Amino acid sequence: GCGICVKKCPFDAISIVNVPDNFEKEVIHRYGINGFELFGLPILKRDNIMGLLGKNGTGKTTILKILSGELIPNFGDLEHEPTPEKVLQRFKGKELYSYFSDLYNKKIKVVHKIQYIEYVSKLLKGEVGGLLKKVDERGKLDEVKSLLYMDSFWNKDVSTLSGGELQKTIVGAALLRSADVYAFDEPSSYLDVRERINLAKAIRELTKGKYVIVVDHDLIVLDYIADMISILYGEGGVYGKVSKTYSTRVGINSFIDGYLPAENMRIMDYKIEFYLKDITDLDVRKDVSEKLLWQRMTKALDSFSLVVEEGKAREGEIIGLLGPNGIGKTTFIRMIVGEIQPDTGVIFPQGLTLSYKPQRIVPNFEGTVREYLEQASKDILSTSSWFYEEVTRRLKLHKLLDSYVKNLSGGELQKLYVAAALAKDADVYLFDEPSSYLDVEERYVVAKAIKRITRERKSVTFLVDHDLAIHDYISDRIMVFSGIPGKEGHASSPLTLSKGMNMFLKGIGLTFRRDADTGRPRANKIGSYLDRLQRDRNEYYSME
Ligand code: ADP
Ligand code: ADP
Ligand code: MG
Repeated sequence: GCGICVKKCPFDAISIVNVPDNFEKEVIHRYGINGFELFGLPILKRDNIMGLLGKNGTGKTTILKILSGELIPNFGDLEHEPTPEKVLQRFKGKELYSYFSDLYNKKIKVVHKIQYIEYVSKLLKGEVGGLLKKVDERGKLDEVKSLLYMDSFWNKDVSTLSGGELQKTIVGAALLRSADVYAFDEPSSYLDVRERINLAKAIRELTKGKYVIVVDHDLIVLDYIADMISILYGEGGVYGKVSKTYSTRVGINSFIDGYLPAENMRIMDYKIEFYLKDITDLDVRKDVSEKLLWQRMTKALDSFSLVVEEGKAREGEIIGLLGPNGIGKTTFIRMIVGEIQPDTGVIFPQGLTLSYKPQRIVPNFEGTVREYLEQASKDILSTSSWFYEEVTRRLKLHKLLDSYVKNLSGGELQKLYVAAALAKDADVYLFDEPSSYLDVEERYVVAKAIKRITRERKSVTFLVDHDLAIHDYISDRIMVFSGIPGKEGHASSPLTLSKGMNMFLKGIGLTFRRDADTGRPRANKIGSYLDRLQRDRNEYYSME
């Protein structure tokens, strides 16, 4: 073994793939005086997909810009213009030399899928199929179309696409270009669970023999897609360091543990833990009453119809809603709180109050974060309150108080809106994709806050999220929505975590196992031994 694993060496772990020589000490790039500093670069290997994992503001996008030649690193020297010659001089004799030499001499070509795809949609005009045909330098149009399941919007105009459709179009365009290096910055944003796995498969299929680097915060996606992992750690907005290269499994597990073994470095002050129990603390408590119940309900809207099986929710319960976009999750909640009336079926009690964090977050507030929070609740800003400690500080909102809401990054805005929704005292909470734009650590901080407040207030929270690990972590039960998005939806009764996950994953044809050391869920490769075994046993979501 490599001497890193405390326990037995797991079969798929060769812990360190390669070790950059002394890079951790070297400033690669600095943005201005007192600006952010990046230390180290990951070392790409042909035919190996590098996953980049780390918190927001630690330089992941900066790395992609450097590796794609869009940004020439200045090594901290702000007085002189950076040049390719200086970069090659610095890397002489090091592993990165040949990469940058080929890059700057145009021997290798890079395609870079950028993080914020909203910008791209304004530049593109025309139908999806026609646009992709134009960029198809590899003759793989049909393959991309089928691997990414693009049939339903192939003839749509780009300006009318949903976020998920746009993401697939842009990833598809990147894969159709002929290049030696493919860089993907947060490709899973806006996609549902099945689309994420399809995306991971498409990237793996179509980048064989290439250099590939993927930044993402969904551990399941990263686990599925990457052959090796580099972790970015440090202080967001201040500095970021690139870790040594780990095998995917060890890299993700070390990240979850908050400790990098090869560099003997603690990167988080706590561990992310996975609850494996199908029975939660709510089930064992004797004092838990029912908060709401509904009969089997039906509702017909213009061209969409929904059937919801009967169910109940207990005080303090978190119910995860799983299913694709446009399948009726929001419609269901709107019926629960009486915003719309079901055609058949009764809800009890009536008149419950709702606090809602919508899916799309738009910075439509003119003032500062402080002003925004003041109007939401006094508690958020009162430094002596529990809420301030658990939510405001944990989400690091206290550092943003004087920033203008419209200048916040996507992740900062998400945290602000989640905190504001939590601050409102309500019977029912609906969080629609609270994890988008958040890094892994922030996702768990947000999840913990949601759970704690729901329990304390004896409210009911409905949680919509496409990051399965989050449901695993805080949902008490699961409702599965299936059907045809935009046409007809069917919602199950609330089910136990294992039954719900099983039903959902069976519906989308995926099986998940558990990591032996951390318990985190891992998607099985389709057709692998465990995949076949679990299918035979009808165990799509392993609890052990
Ligand atoms: P990540 O992708 O990990 O979230 P980025 O690479 O986008 O991080 O940014 C790292 C840090 O560098 C951030 O704090 C960001 O504000 C800062 N930064 C990014 N681009 C610039 C720039 N062009 N000028 C000054 N600072 C920048
Ligand atoms: P989800 O929350 O699962 O994304 P929604 O409940 O928001 O799905 O929407 C389900 C479907 O119902 C969508 O096709 C949506 O366009 C349609 N829909 C939602 N509200 C209305 C309405 N008031 N009138 C007509 N159609 C609607
Ligand atoms: Mg980024």
